[in-house]
Amino acid sequence: MAHRSRIRRSLPWLAAVCISTGTPLTAQGQVSTEWPIHSMARPKAPVVDPGPSHDPVPPPADAIVLFNGHDLSDWRNADSSGAPARWKVELGYMEVVSGTGNIATARAFGDAQVHVEWETPTPPTGEGQERGNSGVFLMGKYEIQVLDSYDNPTYADGQAAAMFGQYPPLVNASRPPGQWQTYDIIWHGPRWGKSGELASPARITVFHNGVLVQDNVTLTGPTAYRHRPPYTHDPDQLPLVLQDHHSPVRFRDLWIRPLKD
Ligand code: MG
Repeated sequence: MAHRSRIRRSLPWLAAVCISTGTPLTAQGQVSTEWPIHSMARPKAPVVDPGPSHDPVPPPADAIVLFNGHDLSDWRNADSSGAPARWKVELGYMEVVSGTGNIATARAFGDAQVHVEWETPTPPTGEGQERGNSGVFLMGKYEIQVLDSYDNPTYADGQAAAMFGQYPPLVNASRPPGQWQTYDIIWHGPRWGKSGELASPARITVFHNGVLVQDNVTLTGPTAYRHRPPYTHDPDQLPLVLQDHHSPVRFRDLWIRPLKD
């Protein structure tokens, strides 16, 4: 019961789903062949008000805290230089500094539960993909889109909580810009056979502000702009990456719980 109470405290909404239904979240999603990538005609996810934001709650006891709120000592520039990350840190959050590049965790991770909080600028500027764009890349290659998708139309597979270019979110659970939002992620990376062949593709489940938006979907490969590249045989663990898309998006309360096979 201690285990269950800890889950309830850290993820009360998820615990409620699993306990009330008695079943795991097992639906499998496949990329639609009906709509071309980034089609503006593809139906947008229906809006669901997720309720107000709130201060972070303490992470679970076994979580690895990825950002200490004071500096970027646990982060690097995501390019091959390994140079220090150059985003701004103040008041317990980090903020994208346009042009300094994506940043990556110093440590590498594979399968994991991940918690991320983010906030897009207010007042908002730009439209579509140019409004509050950033991203969370699992293993540095698979992007959950971060975007101000509050009354800001863009292509469905590129709005907030989309698996970029592959899956629109099930619903648009965005809060207004200037309010903190959360992603809770369950990530299973690709598996490789003995001969180096793809044994099973990556799968991901995402909750946006506590609302289910990606239900164990199967990725076609890394995410990309205007195309869907194939898998490449990478290490089983790679850094988590946050995107510099030239918008001063903020992040806080990032933690991860690596999952065992
Ligand atoms: Mg992005």
